[in-house]
Amino acid sequence: MNTQNSNFKFLLEQFDDIKIMRYQVPGFEQMSLEQKKLIYFLTQATLSGRDITFDQHYKYNLLIRKVLENIYTNYTEQKMNLVSENEFTQFSNYLKKVWFSNGIHHHNSTDKFPPNFSKKTWRILSEQYTGKSYRYPKNFDSLSLFIEDIIFNPQTAAKRVSQDSTGDLIKASAVNFYENIEQKEVEDYYHQQKKENDPCPVSYGLNSKLSKQNGKIIEQTYSTKGLYAPAIKEIVFWLRKASQVAENNNQKKAIDLLIRYYETGDLHIWDEYNIAWVNDLDSLIDFVNGFIEDYGDPLGMKATWESITNFKDLEATKRTSIISENAQWFENHSPIDNRYRKPVVKGVSAKAINVAMLGGDCFPTTPIGINLPNADWVRRDYGSKSVTIENITYAYDQASKASGFLEEFVLDKDEISLTRKYGSIASNLHTDLHECLGHGSGQLAEGTNPEALKNYASPLEEARADLFALYFLMDDKMQDLGLFENKNVAKAEYNSYIRNGLMSQLVRVKLGNPIEQAHMRNRQLVAAWCFEKGKTENVIEKFQKDGKTYVKINNYDKLRLLFGKLLKEVQRIKSEGDYETGKALIEDYAVKVNYDLHKEVLERFEKLNIAPYGGFINPSYIPIYEGETIVDVELVYEEDYCLQMIKYGNKYSFLDAE
Ligand code: ZN
Repeated sequence: MNTQNSNFKFLLEQFDDIKIMRYQVPGFEQMSLEQKKLIYFLTQATLSGRDITFDQHYKYNLLIRKVLENIYTNYTEQKMNLVSENEFTQFSNYLKKVWFSNGIHHHNSTDKFPPNFSKKTWRILSEQYTGKSYRYPKNFDSLSLFIEDIIFNPQTAAKRVSQDSTGDLIKASAVNFYENIEQKEVEDYYHQQKKENDPCPVSYGLNSKLSKQNGKIIEQTYSTKGLYAPAIKEIVFWLRKASQVAENNNQKKAIDLLIRYYETGDLHIWDEYNIAWVNDLDSLIDFVNGFIEDYGDPLGMKATWESITNFKDLEATKRTSIISENAQWFENHSPIDNRYRKPVVKGVSAKAINVAMLGGDCFPTTPIGINLPNADWVRRDYGSKSVTIENITYAYDQASKASGFLEEFVLDKDEISLTRKYGSIASNLHTDLHECLGHGSGQLAEGTNPEALKNYASPLEEARADLFALYFLMDDKMQDLGLFENKNVAKAEYNSYIRNGLMSQLVRVKLGNPIEQAHMRNRQLVAAWCFEKGKTENVIEKFQKDGKTYVKINNYDKLRLLFGKLLKEVQRIKSEGDYETGKALIEDYAVKVNYDLHKEVLERFEKLNIAPYGGFINPSYIPIYEGETIVDVELVYEEDYCLQMIKYGNKYSFLDAE
């Protein structure tokens, strides 16, 4: 995995709380022409849905992006000089953030981010707009004033996804899955469709927008004939080409089913596709393309479009294969109640991959592991595919080496060298266990509603997978299987996990705000719960030196037992659908932040001048033609974030603004 070119520039630029990096694609050049063509066609499908994600995130995102891109291009191409340099930089940074978040809301907090340029600047710049004259609501005098309200008025579309369960979640969320409809009406609408005791329910509402017009509920499905048709047709165009060069029949079957699903919007075909996709284990090249994760919907039903084109990293896959081949051993030895153990763990496949292209909701910020499909019954009956993404993890590591972050939050020199030595393999193994085994482990009690945990389901599910990984990292089995030589690897992961959950992840939260993001809630839950439960035995210690707070683990074995104990409880909560206890765990441990510690962490972090969030630009793939025939595909590493975004805006924009 470290065969990548070390002179490669990983970190490209930084603005506000964001850093832009790039990744390498080792192994592409060694592929056969047919494989290169397949990658090329799939990457085009990955890029073609970009506008969908923008529009799903918020109704006016495309309008804003298109208007701002037009102004930005006019201003820079004609070297205009109408506002101060700083004001134009701030305007550009705002646009960079819109690209980064696929809209005007922060990708992580989902709060609308405020502009750092003035209204006066906006009025001057907006006069340079030369694009299409879009419609705007009657109560505004001009398009410019309408956009001004969206960008500058803190009340307008303040939050993309509200988690505040006391009010109407839909009213409080700017996300574009619902319009002019109340939460209760949506819940009733889908409740009526559900069949009692259906063992294989489709994912109701997954791929549609629900609205009310003249008192009638209208569901608009995403398909080549429905909502987002121009973009979906483009995706299908490239999928057809991919189907023609598929590596084998299983892969071809999956691609063809995905095409049919996109043409019909039929969720039964979506399930068929997922089953075919899970069954395709032999292909080198693989991809994710569809409406998949529901984190963006306050009701957890509707999915945001995302895509990743990838291929197996053969060396690293040896590691994940060992883990997945032993899935049943792990399941049998998991410290959970016997009733909630899976008697037979099916088809836990795992591999390490390198991404070739990121798209939609996976771009520019990307996951480092994926476990799909999401439908519980498909996982139960057919298993799931689980991947860790090698080249992205590697790029993160390379980009962050010299930041000083570790030295700021760790006092102990041995702990620092432990992390430097084992941190990378430790975190890869954690991700492997989390994705290959953690999410797939355990089972529901009979009659438990899989949606019983509602808005607390995501952080609890992530905690379950993390705890599974943490518990087994310290197990002798890891050495028996030859996954690492000594337990220092596990210690390195315990150190960084607890430090992160109790302290360092707070750099991503604004002072005074609670923790909202599911993965962050999960990490604080695990760390804070173990800290409190281990207090009498001083398992984890918080101490001060020179006015700075540090965290130290005093007893790794006892910490491991605490991980096991919490895993047992979280599994019970999931298996029984115990909403009240799940809610209490999250609210008591995962949400609130100690103000003084938070302030201290932010001050220490600020001095380091590192952006807490990272994202990537993509390489591009250039087909070389002889006549009509592709004879090679060239991999080109791009190096300019703005150029790539403007290019995507021109080349892969298939939807019009409202
Ligand atoms: Zn997860």
